[in-house]
Amino acid sequence: MLTESVFVALGSNVGDREYYVSKAIELLGGEAEISIIKQSTMLETEPVGPINQGMFLNAVIEITTALSPKALLHVCLKIEEKLGRVRTKRWGPRTIDLDIVLFGNKIVHMPNLTIPHPELMNRSFVLVPLVEIAPDAVHPVTSCTAVEMLDLM
Ligand code: ATP
Ligand code: CA
Ligand code: CA
Repeated sequence: MLTESVFVALGSNVGDREYYVSKAIELLGGEAEISIIKQSTMLETEPVGPINQGMFLNAVIEITTALSPKALLHVCLKIEEKLGRVRTKRWGPRTIDLDIVLFGNKIVHMPNLTIPHPELMNRSFVLVPLVEIAPDAVHPVTSCTAVEMLDLM
């Protein structure tokens, strides 16, 4: 079976941001069904949206996994909870945010899960680290590579 490359975007803007991003990666890699393949450097970015909040530390990792998209989402949500994330308002401050941005060439439209992540093409804080580790990763709907998506911004 061909292993698909899955990309997860991480972001933190509360507390020890570097710790939360590193710990989340460690916890993902600690799952029996997940292997970490590559890790981008962390970059500091301005918060986007209507809420006044602290700067983010962002990163993207490449993993391979035997999990389904839905099962991977549950692992991500469990790690967010473990690292003390409290959901207040949408796009508000958070210790850690884990978004599945690409899952091989899968297209998922479920009530609680959309892959590719709908904002991928609009977010340089995801595209820059994605290009760093996987410039040729392809968006299965638009067929754009990561580099092309960044160029289109
Ligand atoms: P955004 O999705 O715009 O980056 P957010 O990350 O702040 O916003 P959250 O509060 O972290 O939003 O997540 C809300 C819900 O989004 C999650 O509970 C999850 O069910 C859903 N969701 C849908 N698609 C995805 C995806 N590709 N990766 C992670 N969560 C997703
Ligand atoms: Ca997010
Ligand atoms: Ca999220």
